[in-house]
Amino acid sequence: MTVHLYHSDAYLCTFDAHVVRCWSLEDRNAVVLDQTAFYPTSGGQPHDIGTINEMSVVDVYEENGDIVHLITGNLPLGSVRGQIDWQRRLDHMQQHTGQHILSQAFLAETGAQTLSFHLGKDTSTIDLNTDHLSSEQMTRVEDRANTIVLQNRPVIIRSLTQEEVPTAGLRKPPSVKGTVRVVAVEDFDLSACGGTHLKSTGETGMIFVRRWERQHKKIRVEFLCGWRALRDHRQKNNAILHLAQSFSIGEWELLEAVERLQAEVQSCHRSLKTLREQALDHEARSLLSEAHPQDHWKIVVKAFEGRDPQEVRILALRLVHEEGVVALLGAVNDMGRLFFARSSDLPMDMGELLRETCEAIGSGGGGGRANLAQGGGLPSQEVYGALALALQKLTS
Ligand SMILES: [Zn+2]
Repeated sequence: MTVHLYHSDAYLCTFDAHVVRCWSLEDRNAVVLDQTAFYPTSGGQPHDIGTINEMSVVDVYEENGDIVHLITGNLPLGSVRGQIDWQRRLDHMQQHTGQHILSQAFLAETGAQTLSFHLGKDTSTIDLNTDHLSSEQMTRVEDRANTIVLQNRPVIIRSLTQEEVPTAGLRKPPSVKGTVRVVAVEDFDLSACGGTHLKSTGETGMIFVRRWERQHKKIRVEFLCGWRALRDHRQKNNAILHLAQSFSIGEWELLEAVERLQAEVQSCHRSLKTLREQALDHEARSLLSEAHPQDHWKIVVKAFEGRDPQEVRILALRLVHEEGVVALLGAVNDMGRLFFARSSDLPMDMGELLRETCEAIGSGGGGGRANLAQGGGLPSQEVYGALALALQKLTS
């Protein structure tokens, strides 16, 4: 079994060791050392990266008590020097130690127990066994957790025998039997854990709950600690300052300004809708005045280039609102669309007319009811021919 140096000293970055075993694994080489400071992926915490004799360590995992390092080169048997990436390790220790503090703060302030923990690349999450948390509760939890941080309490690792476990006051029962490794945040939290932790709570830096959401009967809390919290704050601060500057207002006036803007946009939408309807009414009247007169009815025929087909459809409906009107309209865009409509007092079948027209020109298709039919799928230049043909059919 590999000696886990990260368990006795989580701050150890450089170490000497002997290669015990080496083998190829796909395009990588797997290496087992007699001792290592590289933490393997486990307990929600991702593995370390770094180098062994200048060769990159890209993955680390545990296999039957041995720690396997996947490296990008070949290592000879013998002594080697390992170096872990300290920035990544420190980040993991901040998130992990922060999680212990946050989980106990949730338990103390709301009674919610942590079910699981995931340390992600950008943010970390814990799942809580509750289906409701108010903003006020969340603020209390955050305040409690950050108070523990600022009190800079010692974080101590020790072992408990199986007999000591039931009465030790662990936050939740351990998943392993026998002697258990526990992490104690002085006079606050005691948890069984095999991860790497900071020596004191102050090193965690700020603990910040970014968001939370209900997932079935639990709540997933996304949080950031230490440098991650600072980076997040910096990014949001820059965004807010930029927005405030673009509105030429103070940053605290932003919410009000955005609400005002939303109301203005809604009002503009309403005005625009009214104006569009008025314009369509006007257009319909103008088209009716130029319509092809028949005995007791008239036909409006027109193709519109580059116009929203839905608007052409609405125009057709507006035209046949009056009695004795047939509207044969086309929309010419990437593809051609046809809209045939007639007033309710006329007998013609627009669905049939549209089908016959498409069949006769040999492209496009569609259908609809007797009073309104629409078709598409024909090359845009065919629209003019289709309208002329439909007019001819209707008047012959
Ligand atoms: Zn832990």
